[in-house]
Amino acid sequence: MKTIYLDNNATTKVADEVLEVMLPYFTQLYGNPSSMHTFGGQVGQRIRDAREQVAALLGALPEEIIFTSCGTESDNAAIHSALLTRPDKKHIVISRVEHPAIRALCSHLGTQGYKITELPVNKNGLLDLENLENSLTPDTAIVSLMWANNETGVIFPVEEAARLAHDKGILFHTDAVQAVGKIPINMKNNAIDMLSISGHKLHAPKGIGVLYIRRGTKFSPFLIGGHQEKGRRGGTENAAGIAGLGRACELAAKNMDTENNRVKRLRDKLESELLKKIPQSRVNGDIENRLPNTTNISFEYVEGEAILLLMNELGICASSGSACTSGSLQPSHVLRAMGVPFTMAHGSIRFSLSVYNTEEEVDFVIEKMPAIIERLRGMSPFWNQAGQACTNQ
Ligand code: PLP
Repeated sequence: MKTIYLDNNATTKVADEVLEVMLPYFTQLYGNPSSMHTFGGQVGQRIRDAREQVAALLGALPEEIIFTSCGTESDNAAIHSALLTRPDKKHIVISRVEHPAIRALCSHLGTQGYKITELPVNKNGLLDLENLENSLTPDTAIVSLMWANNETGVIFPVEEAARLAHDKGILFHTDAVQAVGKIPINMKNNAIDMLSISGHKLHAPKGIGVLYIRRGTKFSPFLIGGHQEKGRRGGTENAAGIAGLGRACELAAKNMDTENNRVKRLRDKLESELLKKIPQSRVNGDIENRLPNTTNISFEYVEGEAILLLMNELGICASSGSACTSGSLQPSHVLRAMGVPFTMAHGSIRFSLSVYNTEEEVDFVIEKMPAIIERLRGMSPFWNQAGQACTNQ
C-alpha cells in the first residue's frame, strides 16, 4: 500500500539532497571538528559552511546562528538565557497556543517563582496586540510567541509584537519551528532577539536545531561544557545533522515559491473539496493568516482518532486535534483556546502538506474522506440525534 503522507507539521521526509551531504560524516569524515588536525578541521569547515547556509535563509549573520539538538532545546535555551541575563525580572509572556516546548517549560517555571502570562487568542486563533501591550510590565524579562501554529498553521504578527516588546526594553523570542522554510523570514527587518528552528520540520533529520541570537544580545548558555559554538552551547557538534540542515535551508530557499504556490494550491483544493463534499465540516483557524501547507478541519460528531484509524487503513497519514491524556480524549489546548465547540474540536484533523505531495495524492484523499466520515457518523448516536437533523434543514 502506498503511503500518502500529509503529516508534515509532525515531521518531514529527509530530502535526498540532504541525506547525500550527510553520509560522508558517518563514514569517511568522522573527525572531531575541534581537533587540531586537518582531518577534523575539514569537518569544522563544513559546519562553518552550514552556518552560512542557515544564516542566508534567515537574512542573518553566520555568527548569529548556534546549532542545538532540536526545537525544544532552542526554545528552552532562549527562555533560560533571558531569565539568567535579567535576574531581577520574574515575568514571562507567552500565548495559550504555544507548543509544549514553551508552554510546559513555563508551567514549570511558574512553580519556581516566575509569573507567567498566557495571552488568549480569538476564535480564529489570532492574537490581539493590544492585549500583549497591556500585559507588559517593568518585571517582564521576555515575550515568547510562536511565528506559526503547528496545529492550525495560523501566523502570529511576531514582527509587530517584537517591536512592542523592544519599545519597553523587553527581550523577544519566537518559536519559528513551523514557519522557517514555509514562509519568507528576514531577520534584517525586525526586532526579534531570538528564534528557534528544528531541522526535522524542513526536510533535515531529527536531532538538529538552531537558535538564532541577534548580534549584541546577551546570552547565557543552556548546555554548559566545551567551547563549541563560541561557548554558547557545549557538546561535540552533530556534524552530519548540521551539514544536512545547511543543505535543507538552501533547498527551502529554492523551494519557497513552490511551497507558497503549488503546495498552497494543493492544500486549498483539498480543503475546499472536503468542505464541499462533507456536511457539517469547517476549517479551524484564520483562513488568510495561515501557513500555505496546513489545514485543520473539524468534522462534527465524529472522533478524530477514529477518523485517523480509518485513514490509516488506506495509507493516509495525518494528525488529530485530540490527544489521549489520562485515558480520556481531550481536545487540543490550541482548539480549546480558540473556543472551538466540543463536538467540533473532537473531530478535528490536521492535514499538513510538503513539496513532495502530488495532485494524485490529494485527489485520492478527497475521494476517500467522505465515505470515512459517513461511516463513522452512521455509528454516532450524536450525529443521528443532532447532526443529521442539522443537515436536513
Ligand atoms: N515548536 C513547534 C511549534 C513545534 O511544532 C515543535 C515540534 O513539533 C517543536 C517546537 C519542537 O521541536 P523538536 O521536535 O525539534 O524538539
